[in-house]
Amino acid sequence: MDKETLTRLDREHIKFIRVLWCDNANLIRGKAIHRKQLETYVTHGVGLTAAQQALPVMADVVVPNSGLSPIGEVRLIPDLSTLTCLPYAKNHARVMGDMILNGQPWSCCPRDFLKRMIARAKKAELEVMAAFENEFYLLNPDDFSPVDDTVFAATLSMDLQQATIDEISEALIAQGLVVELYHPESGPGQQEISVLYTNALAAADQQIVFRETVKAIARQHQQIASFLPKIFLDSAGNGCHLHFSLWRDGKNILVDTENPGFLSLRGQSFLAGILKHLPALMAITTPSVNSYRRLQPNCWSGAFRCWGYDHREAALRVPTNAVNPSPTHVELKTVDASANPYLALGSIIAAGLDGLKQNLNLGEPLTKVPTQLTEAESLELAIEPLPNSLEISLEHLQDNTLILDALGQELAQSYLAVKKAELQAMKDFSLQQEVELLLERY
Ligand code: GLU
Ligand code: MG
Repeated sequence: MDKETLTRLDREHIKFIRVLWCDNANLIRGKAIHRKQLETYVTHGVGLTAAQQALPVMADVVVPNSGLSPIGEVRLIPDLSTLTCLPYAKNHARVMGDMILNGQPWSCCPRDFLKRMIARAKKAELEVMAAFENEFYLLNPDDFSPVDDTVFAATLSMDLQQATIDEISEALIAQGLVVELYHPESGPGQQEISVLYTNALAAADQQIVFRETVKAIARQHQQIASFLPKIFLDSAGNGCHLHFSLWRDGKNILVDTENPGFLSLRGQSFLAGILKHLPALMAITTPSVNSYRRLQPNCWSGAFRCWGYDHREAALRVPTNAVNPSPTHVELKTVDASANPYLALGSIIAAGLDGLKQNLNLGEPLTKVPTQLTEAESLELAIEPLPNSLEISLEHLQDNTLILDALGQELAQSYLAVKKAELQAMKDFSLQQEVELLLERY
């Protein structure tokens, strides 16, 4: 370990360094190393039972058919390049962990899966840049009612929640994120803070930082923050749209330089790959039973398998703007924050690369509102409904060799086992029961 890092930790009076991982159920967990022991533990990491990747969101009980058991250990090795002091937890620092088995990345490590997909993209001479755009509710801790009763972009909400939002933003900035924009979202007490894109691995790491920070700081303001996709039946859901772009040699290659205002052919094929695999991807990007309550028509949540320029109802929105009408990035709306960001981003990259490899045709952008199409128009435009339950998206994933192969046999098996156990446990839950169980988990 370099002296400079140790000095920095001591200057900040750090007592514990939390080593974090995000499991198949998308729970963020950590084991902490005392500062005095850091040099001993830094190379070998901390022990983790392999069964950690077989735990569902409901309880710490190993699910059946995961291929994992309480026998067997992996090491969680801190990736020191991610080490950050925690602005909201005095004397604690945080670092992302990599799961290592016998000196090699463990096949079930979600962070390594994303690294593998980044390497796959690199082979195709591509770099994916990305940012997750989170929406979350601020709630009263006693009865989980919203902290205000405001509408989209209400300045009243800005005034009422200023202390919480300012502190969250400062803490994100202190941890290296670039806070770009903030607005109160449509639901009562719902907020959105967006951060600047970065490389894919950092974007997924930042998603962990974001959730940790928002939740911790809200609590310090006597509020509960929740990213659960759907909390109130009649109010907006929480999206976690993924914004991404494709780069080669430091240049954004999404734009058609010959044809300003349009997507490049490579960009189109990448998007076509995502649309092709979307029903299966959804078992990873919208992976909870609760996710499907959010994915409703007219909720701008990506409930339709289509794409369009500036189209808020399409799963893939290609944003343009008056200053620069050429697209610079794409937004996938069919994502929520119950998704493990490493698995979600990694599988999206795998799907996009498949589109490129097969030269898939994206087809024409949709210029109409899906719910206003006649049956004949829907057929003609091939606007198919996306899965409306986890059960259906899981069936698609089980049949999707491209994504299963990308995950690898062991990660795929453990992931499917966790999700099936969650489905089994929650398939007949009312919204109320989902909220009781999951509100504070996500
Ligand atoms: N709340 C919507 C969702 O569930 C997104 C609204 C927006 O476009 O910002 O995805
Ligand atoms: Mg929004």
